[in-house]
Amino acid sequence: MSVTRRSAVGAGLAAAALPSALSSATARAAQPLATAQAPAFFRYRVGDLQVTAISDGVAVRPSEGLVPNAPAGGLQQALADRFLPTDKVTISFTTLVVNTGTKLVLLDTGNGDLGAPTSGTWLANFRAARFDPANVDTVIISHFHGDHINGLRMKDGTARFPRAEVMVPTPEWAFWMDDGNMSQAPAGLKGTFDNSRRVFGPMAKDVTRYEWGKEIAPGITAVDAHGHTPGHTAFAIASGAGRLMALSDTTNDPNIFARNPEWSAIFDQDGPEAIKARRRMLEMAAAEKMQVSFYHAPFPATGFMTREGSGYALVPAPWRPEV
Ligand SMILES: [Zn+2]
Repeated sequence: MSVTRRSAVGAGLAAAALPSALSSATARAAQPLATAQAPAFFRYRVGDLQVTAISDGVAVRPSEGLVPNAPAGGLQQALADRFLPTDKVTISFTTLVVNTGTKLVLLDTGNGDLGAPTSGTWLANFRAARFDPANVDTVIISHFHGDHINGLRMKDGTARFPRAEVMVPTPEWAFWMDDGNMSQAPAGLKGTFDNSRRVFGPMAKDVTRYEWGKEIAPGITAVDAHGHTPGHTAFAIASGAGRLMALSDTTNDPNIFARNPEWSAIFDQDGPEAIKARRRMLEMAAAEKMQVSFYHAPFPATGFMTREGSGYALVPAPWRPEV
């Protein structure tokens, strides 16, 4: 949002307080205005593991109709309380790279080349963090929504991570790759059935299915968080005394949905089960004071949960110099 003279005056600021560059159409700094945000990656440690959060930008959706079970005006009030526009919701995308020391593991892939105009920054950010898609050993998928799997393929269909083993939750595969389920699916789910086939069809025989409760890569254990989708998975990441719970889509933006765990966005396939998973996972995070990350929290999407009111609040982790 740009500050205009009119909005500043409208907000009660004295026009005289405006910097002169803003009030003059002709004055220009010798340094031109930047046209792009800085590369968005952020590193932190979990014991001996190095985690790098990689942003895939954002998508903006109308707030109207996004949370059908919220009380009238509730979402708009929650947005206003966060100093955000009330007519739209900005959804962030953050994938995690985990360097275990022996393997380079990627948790979810972003929107790939098919994302919104304000996403699609994943590859540039990944490279800016000095990673190469050819060096990824393992890609672990949390669930089959397009914003998590579309980065597996380039626009022309070529695999983005040519050497990587692709690992998916067994119940997620069972649901979305079943032709019977597809034929009975309501219209709203057809796109995800079709897209799952587009992404996984050509590699189906090579995809590894993983089970909840198992360590599926060094230090990374799959955790049942179903509800958002039938096989939706969170990841407990542990090394030494270090702990991180990667909550995937247990909430959409936690600033809205952790504070209101009973609210189900339209993306939650089974609302009541999604609410159960949300309450269970957020309560565990708060009780055990463990660091968490969210796929859809504002970047870099990591911090700690505290109990607040009838829900939970995310306390963002601070930037630190050490990696
Ligand atoms: Zn998602």
